[in-house]
Amino acid sequence: MTARILVVDDIPANVKLLEARLLAEYFDVLTAPDGHTALDICDRTQVDLILLDIMMPGIDGFEVCERLKANPRTAHIPVVMVTALDQPSDRVRGLKAGADDFLTKPVNDLQLISRVKSLVRLKNVSDELRLRAETAHSIGLQDLGRYDTLTEPGNVLIVDGRASSQERIARALKPVAQVTGISDPQAALFEAAENPFDLVIVNSNFPDYDPLRLCSQLRSLERTRFIPILLVIEQGQDDMVVRALELGVTDYIVRPVDPNELLARSLTQIRRKHFNDRLRASVQHTIELAVTDPLTGLHNRRYLDSHLKLLADRAAARGKPLSLFITDIDRFKSVNDTYGHDAGDEVLREFAHRVRSAVRGADLACRFGGEEFVVVMPDTTAEVAAVVAERLRLSVETKPFALPGDAPSLSITASLGIASFNLAEDTPEAVLKRADTALYQAKRNGRNQVVAIAA
Ligand code: GH3
Ligand code: MG
Ligand code: MG
Repeated sequence: MTARILVVDDIPANVKLLEARLLAEYFDVLTAPDGHTALDICDRTQVDLILLDIMMPGIDGFEVCERLKANPRTAHIPVVMVTALDQPSDRVRGLKAGADDFLTKPVNDLQLISRVKSLVRLKNVSDELRLRAETAHSIGLQDLGRYDTLTEPGNVLIVDGRASSQERIARALKPVAQVTGISDPQAALFEAAENPFDLVIVNSNFPDYDPLRLCSQLRSLERTRFIPILLVIEQGQDDMVVRALELGVTDYIVRPVDPNELLARSLTQIRRKHFNDRLRASVQHTIELAVTDPLTGLHNRRYLDSHLKLLADRAAARGKPLSLFITDIDRFKSVNDTYGHDAGDEVLREFAHRVRSAVRGADLACRFGGEEFVVVMPDTTAEVAAVVAERLRLSVETKPFALPGDAPSLSITASLGIASFNLAEDTPEAVLKRADTALYQAKRNGRNQVVAIAA
């Protein structure tokens, strides 16, 4: 993992020390002797993480952090405050300014490298998602909001063998989180898989259980692998920290737990989790839009093209029948010509609704284009497909279509062409072509009818 780290400190010796350690881990390092220079660098170049001193002439670290977090261009860059003394009040101020993490001078090597790596890893995930979500954003779909504003409380699971420490942790997190405590690690795994937690805190204080086992299980389960894990360890358990971070544990905290530090670290993880959840939902939403027809809500042709092959392969592998029909509204152009395009759209929407009502949930209904729709029916023979097609034809013919405004309801009919997969050698293109030929036949025979073409 490589990343560009900006070290900000007014004392050159401090800068040199941090720079040397980061360079030894092959990070790319930039340095700044004061707040203004730091802000300038962040504005001009891409920075992945900032190590920020607090006491500096000019603008201090708190203000630099506030300015970074207030600027949408730099708000997502993780900021690690480097505090001179272990001052809890500094940490609270830093937290308010939007800092993501803290290190205490003199900076411990393991802490420095593990925290930097963990935050860079988190940022990489966000960057990737941000990039994809920005596409959605740029076409005006969704406002993603700022990552550093925590609007809802986090949902935290504490796994701790002792009731007293469970309670202490819960008390510290009360201002920002809804907390569930549990003492059995195996039960905790189920709990985490069943509920939408934003953070799991694992205390390593079990007398006869290796806490890393739980961490590793949380990382491998599909439903829990994105939940951040904060490990609480005993002073001097550096080996465990190294193994934990390799397993994908997100962060750690050393006993005796300082409530402010616990709060700060938890808040950072909860914020990132919320932000990434929003991004993931946005990406998911973009994907759904790409395969959905906006007028009818049915899948579009792009989806049919990719999915039909899959359904055909599956049917072939299982030796099950697969049929489809194409349906096209009769003389639809005259609806537009007589009542206008909006009326035409309304008819299309209602038609799509009747298509969906005529078929099963397992069938795939798509808008193929204009006023043409395709329904793919797994496990369905040509004979059964003919019954379904006829049911749809009838449901269109029997009940007139309501138009918007005062316009009278309109009688609509549709023609349908059926084809079935000949499993051995058929391709989706060939089957669609046969269905289209059948549809053409239905039109030529006088419309408002179903025609099937045998394979
Ligand atoms: P046929 O019975 O032979 O199918 O006649 P038709 O009039 O239905 O067929 P034609 O292909 O000539 O006309 C289809 C019309 O569908 C033309 C087009 O303007 C209209 N159309 C296509 N997409 C939309 C749409 O999204 N909204 C509306 N309102 N009309 C559409
Ligand atoms: Mg038509
Ligand atoms: Mg047409």
